[in-house]
Formats: sequence, structure tokens, C-alpha cells
Amino acid sequence: MKLAADLQSTDQLLALSQAFTSKYLAGLNSLAPHRIIPSLPAATLPEQGIGAAATLEKFTALYGNHLAAGSGPRYWGFVTGGVTPAALMGDWIAGATDMNGSSSGSAALHIEKDAIQQLKSLFGIPEHFFGAFVSGATTANFTGLAIARQWLGEQLGVNVAAEGIASLPNLKILSAVPHSSILKSLSMLGIGRNNLVRIPAIPNREAVEVHALEYYLRENPGQPVIVVANAGTVNTVDFDDIEAMVALKKKYNFWLHIDAAFGGFAACSPDFSHLLKGWEQADSITIDAHKWLNVPYDSAMIFSRHPQLQVSVFQNPGAAYLGDPQEEFHYNNYVPENSRRLRALPAWFTLQAYGKDGYRHIVENNVKLARQLGTYIASDARLKLLAPVRLCVVCFTVDVEAAEQAAKVEALLQALNASGVVYMTKTQYQGQPAIRAALVNWRTTTEDVALVWETMQQLLTTI
Ligand SMILES: *Cc1c(COP(=O)(O)O)cnc(C)c1O
Repeated sequence: MKLAADLQSTDQLLALSQAFTSKYLAGLNSLAPHRIIPSLPAATLPEQGIGAAATLEKFTALYGNHLAAGSGPRYWGFVTGGVTPAALMGDWIAGATDMNGSSSGSAALHIEKDAIQQLKSLFGIPEHFFGAFVSGATTANFTGLAIARQWLGEQLGVNVAAEGIASLPNLKILSAVPHSSILKSLSMLGIGRNNLVRIPAIPNREAVEVHALEYYLRENPGQPVIVVANAGTVNTVDFDDIEAMVALKKKYNFWLHIDAAFGGFAACSPDFSHLLKGWEQADSITIDAHKWLNVPYDSAMIFSRHPQLQVSVFQNPGAAYLGDPQEEFHYNNYVPENSRRLRALPAWFTLQAYGKDGYRHIVENNVKLARQLGTYIASDARLKLLAPVRLCVVCFTVDVEAAEQAAKVEALLQALNASGVVYMTKTQYQGQPAIRAALVNWRTTTEDVALVWETMQQLLTTI
């Protein structure tokens, strides 16, 4: 059995993984951010284990040439960042210490509370919000909408957590351009995707037409609803007018959930924080951490103003070993997960290491670079910028006749992603096939943008 031998050589094994990681990071700049992976041989489960050192060798042999620079400076797909040095340290230590993020009996609860406090300070989210880590913005949206569902039941005199969703017919969710994870959440919550009422967006925008939202609320009196505000749409980073939506709360009875998965980071810079004006009046807020916070997967936060309702949904009734949720604080009575990885630790490390100023710099630098790319694209007659670069995403297409557009966009995107220089993702914006580049990695520099632009110029002549 190799386990006893590995125990004896733990230090050497850690040094081996550190050497591997250092080598990977040293090559990150020239490593392709995305690769097409051929079918790879599978490792079969050995009868006799081979030990950790040989396993690293085997891993390197099998997969070493197929790793991609997901945390590199030119991974511009989706909206994911990389990992800061401090976040990586926190992540390693979270793994080594393996503290259950839901239990008392170690510093875990304190670390999470502490990280949440610092995040509230970073985002300007008021003290009375309760925050907790979950695995991603999808789960954060799910959690926010689950509390909203409970609130809605309360308005009508039913306890949905106890009675089930059938006790609450005709539940409606209003939003203009919600992220697909909102629809996924509606499906998981038993609310149903078809109960999303799409409120029109402002023409040529992805932001809600607030008058249309008010019209719906006025025409459906006595029906409490859930409104989802989008604070940063994935295609064009458009923001709903949160201040105007919050003002409607004075006249109409609704729960306001804000999906600010990456747009929440606008709060880090005085140049952009106005985009979130009024958000402290929301009932629940989603913010992703594996996006602009640049911590490794998987990590996000849900903030809510209704922790008691949250406990109604997520408590573990009758689990004596977990204690009474009203007497003993455990995160597992507030979120879908029971046992949890201490996701707060990488966040805690990076927040302490770089502070408010560091995050302001990361956000402002990424926006500056996205605008630089936007300016290049706008200056080239072969391309068309589909929206102003509001924050960190550049949404563009190939400026050809409609009949040719899908093929040209596909060809350019494939060529770009096969170049090994950059990774972008495809989308559809206002009926047009398009490409989007999302710049939220702390490593990205103006040289990266110049290199990508040079590559694009070259590839445009080949499609
Ligand atoms: C990324 C994103 C999500 C989903 O986040 P995951 O971390 O992938 O679960 C939800 N909403 C918005 C606006 C996003 O950008």
C-alpha cells in the first residue's frame, strides 16, 4: 500500500506539485487558452495504487500536453477571470486544511463571515445583508429565487417550503434579458421556465423598459411577483435602471433579485459604481467570485436581506446533529449545500492581499483594455461593433451581408480560437450572429490586446 509511504514523503510530494504548478504558470503566457482535445486514452483504476509521485507523472504524460491557459491573460471566453497568486495560496490551504465551511469547531465560520464582511465593504452592500458563499452564480440565482419563492408564499399565507410549489399557483417572474441560469433556476425550483414574463427591453438595448415593467405591475394588482434585474448582461454588459426599479417597490409589492454576477464589480470603481445605484434596496443579490474576483472555480456569493426566510427554505429540520438553526449558526441552513468547501478562504486571501485599491485597478484596467479592443474593431470596416463597450465585454460581428454573416462569424471565431492566441465565445445579439470577448483577468495587458488585434487582422484576410 502506497498510502503509508506517501505519508512519509508528503513534503517531497508537495514540492513536486509546486514544481508542476510553477512550470505551468511560467508558461501561461504562451499556452493556448483553448484547445481542441483529441480523444485521449483513459486511465483505468489500478488494482494496486501507484503512489502519488507516479500519479503525477502519469497525469503529466496523459494530460500535460492538453492543458489550456484557462487562467491566462487571453482567455476571453464567457466572463471568467483567472486566479491571483494570493487566491491560489488560499485555495491550496483550503484543500490542505479541509475545514468544512458549514461547521463550527474551526475558524471556518469566522473566515467566511470575515470574507463576506470585506466583500460587503468592497461592493458597498449594507451591513444588514446576509451573505454566504455558494458554488457559482447559477446557484446564487437559484438561492435568491428560492428565498423569493418563500417570500411570495408568505404574502399569500402559504409556507412553500412545507407545502410545496403546488400551494402557490400562477407564480410569475418578470425580467427583460435574464441570464440562462435564471431559467435553469425556475426549472429547478418547480416554478417553471414558462412562467418567466419577458418585459420588453429599451430599443437597441438589453436593459428593461421600466415603463413596461410598471405597466405589468399596475395591470396585475394583488399578485405578488418576483422581478429579476440584470446588472450586466453577458452580451453587451447592459444594466437595468436599478434605481427606477427600486422606486417601483414603493408602489408595488414585488421581490427584487439582482443578477450582478460580474456587473457587481462596477462597484469597485467610482467611474462605474453609478451603474448599480439603488442596489442596496434589492432583496437579494448574486455576485460571482470566479469571474472578476479572480479566485479559482468554483465560487460565488448570495446576499439577501431576509435571512430568516432563507432559513425557512434551507434548514435541515430534525437533524439534531446540526443543531437548532435558531440557536446555533451554521451556513448550511442558508444555502443549498450542507457540507461545503471553505470557498471563503481563496477570497479572503485575495481581498487581504490586494485590497480595495487592487480590485479597483483590476476592474479599471480590464475596462480600459476592452475599450481599446472596441476602438480597434470600430476602426475596421470589415467588422462591426454591436454595442458600445460599457464595461468588460466587446460584442462584435463581421460586417457582411446577412446571408453570409453566420458562416463568416463562425470562420473567424474558429480561426481565432485555433490560433492559440485567444479564446472568445459566440453569441446571438439582436438577431445577428456575433462574437464576444470578455476581459476580466487580472493578468491581461495592453500588449495582449495588441497581439490579439494583430492576429485578428491576419485572420480576417483568410476567412
Ligand atoms: C456567469 C453568469 C451566471 C452564471 O454563473 P456560473 O458561475 O456559471 O454559475 C449568471 N448570471 C450572469 C449574469 C453571469 O454572467
